[in-house]
Amino acid sequence: MGIKEWEKLKLKVKNCKKCDLWKTRKNVVFGEGNLKAKILILGQAPGSKEDEEGRPFVGRAGRLLDNLLRLAGLKREEVFITSVLKCFPPKNRPPAIKEIKSCLYWLKEQVRIINLQKIILLRRVAFSIFFPKENLKNFRGKWIEKGKKFYFPTYHPAAGLPFPTIKKNLRRRF
Ligand code: URA
Ligand code: SF4
Repeated sequence: MGIKEWEKLKLKVKNCKKCDLWKTRKNVVFGEGNLKAKILILGQAPGSKEDEEGRPFVGRAGRLLDNLLRLAGLKREEVFITSVLKCFPPKNRPPAIKEIKSCLYWLKEQVRIINLQKIILLRRVAFSIFFPKENLKNFRGKWIEKGKKFYFPTYHPAAGLPFPTIKKNLRRRF
């Protein structure tokens, strides 16, 4: 992992104006975590708290995510956490297709540079960018192998997580 390449990427994302969300964001939420991590936790888009702080999953969803990680026997330091969109969609509305398309390149660069191997997909938006033709219902809570990487689609941490199943499944691969 080239640290220079990473810092360059971060700078580009922080200054990104590829979609209109740059006009309303307070902060770009690039993501954070260990650059040696093999596991990516991928959300949908920053919320208002994340927008204010410029950090991923720091609001209510973040506390729930921390619980989930604890159950899986993981620390935040062992994973990399980010979202499909790096900027807050006003009023927490769902990301627009155009925004997802504009932003996707940044995520792909993050995955490439860190060489993330296992990707936990929180919610449908994260799932659809890797599996546009598949039905999420058939894949939730299962590991999917594709192109030498493993994907695990699951619920938003706030969605009443089926903890025991997730825990078991996470442990199987982590
Ligand atoms: N949901 C996300 O997808 N990302 C965050 O940073 C917070 C909530
Ligand atoms: Fe750029 Fe993504 Fe932010 Fe849009 S959401 S301005 S593409 S970083």
